[in-house]
Amino acid sequence: MAQTRDDFEVIIIGGGIAGASLAYFLGERGHGDVLLVEKEAQAAYHSSGRSASSLVEIDPVYTLQQLKMIGGRFLRNPPVGFAENPLLDPIGVVLLFPESHWSAIEQAAPVFAEDGMSLDLLTPAEASARLEGMLVEDQFAGAVALPEDGYVDVHELLSSYIRSARRAGAEVRFNTEVTGICVEGGRCSGVVTPTGTIRARTVVNAAGAWVGEIAASAGATAVEFTPRRRSIVMFAAPEGADTRSWPMLWSDSHNFYFRPDPAGILFCPMDEEPMAPCDPMADDLVIAEGLERLRAVAPRLVPRTLGRRWAGLRTFSPDGVPVVGEDTRLPGFFWLAGQGGCGIETSPAVGRIAADLLLNGATESFDAGLLAPGRFG
Ligand SMILES: Cc1cc2nc3c(=O)[nH]c(=O)nc-3n(C[C@H](O)[C@H](O)[C@H](O)COP(=O)(O)OP(=O)(O)OC[C@H]3O[C@@H](n4cnc5c(N)ncnc54)[C@H](O)[C@@H]3O)c2cc1C
Repeated sequence: MAQTRDDFEVIIIGGGIAGASLAYFLGERGHGDVLLVEKEAQAAYHSSGRSASSLVEIDPVYTLQQLKMIGGRFLRNPPVGFAENPLLDPIGVVLLFPESHWSAIEQAAPVFAEDGMSLDLLTPAEASARLEGMLVEDQFAGAVALPEDGYVDVHELLSSYIRSARRAGAEVRFNTEVTGICVEGGRCSGVVTPTGTIRARTVVNAAGAWVGEIAASAGATAVEFTPRRRSIVMFAAPEGADTRSWPMLWSDSHNFYFRPDPAGILFCPMDEEPMAPCDPMADDLVIAEGLERLRAVAPRLVPRTLGRRWAGLRTFSPDGVPVVGEDTRLPGFFWLAGQGGCGIETSPAVGRIAADLLLNGATESFDAGLLAPGRFG
């Protein structure tokens, strides 16, 4: 019988998109002495398996916008042999803006284009035409179309990360909960699991909504993370509509987004209810309120009956930006946390940065200070 190994160079806690992306980028650099541990029976059971799977590069937080743009380049053109199917379906995204924001967007658009973002400014009539005239045009002052953004195949992305990491030597253990962090001589030296202790030079905290609990049990820097529930509901497209050519539609001022899906329409009321780490359920009241906001903008879309609904947690650091890097108080304890609402689309950027920092203590691909755990003192 094969012996179960209990000593690795790197242990990654969490088999979501964050942990999987780091395992991939470590393997890509020839570092396969990696163990990925996941408490559930499968990868992506929590946030990563419940997302709306979109790439929307415009973001009010510029650091996130930059990470999304790096992620977008990877999703459009992954390395040869990485994935078996396309990672991105560029159905396009249309974002609506109110009068109060429109002139700022008009000014920012050339700057975004210079950064390499592909975008077009649309009048309300042009935006509505992209959705077969479904939009009430006086509900917004203008819109931005992102023609190269769209729907990410999360299953393909995640399984490609894990497949490549395994090829490079990484081991993945499901049904393995980390119940404690080992610290020896002021350094993190491994993890405790129900079947024993596993040693490592570096332990990575990529536990999604549970990152705060893991850090507290290690005695690492106390960063206050907030998991926030987000609900999604599916329903049928309006009769006669051909949604196959529709883009995703996003409106921060109305607090919802939706996109076409083979099963109809995927709708999100953009709820942000803070809660302790858990397996959350969709909130029907929040969905009903979101559909009332949808009624103001696209009344024909409001359904009579609802289909499948679900919810997941999006976990935010105090400034809303991911936390990536070695802990300043506990050497050997490495953060890969706080992916918030964009952990899928930013994973190719953040996974690469994390691998660079873990292996070399520095990265050329980003200003790592913006992500450093030390920014929270
Ligand atoms: C409704 C919704 C819509 C979203 N839409 C988008 C979107 O359109 N685009 C986008 O980019 N992002 C989106 N997101 C955000 C995205 O899903 C998250 O940012 C991302 O999945 C976070 O990945 P993660 O690996 O950090 O967390 P997770 O996927 O939650 O992975 C963490 C893993 O750690 C495991 N774990 C925890 N504690 C332990 C332990 N003690 N021992 C072992 N394992 C442990 C958990 O079981 C879990 O599997 C959305 C999220 C939600 C909920």
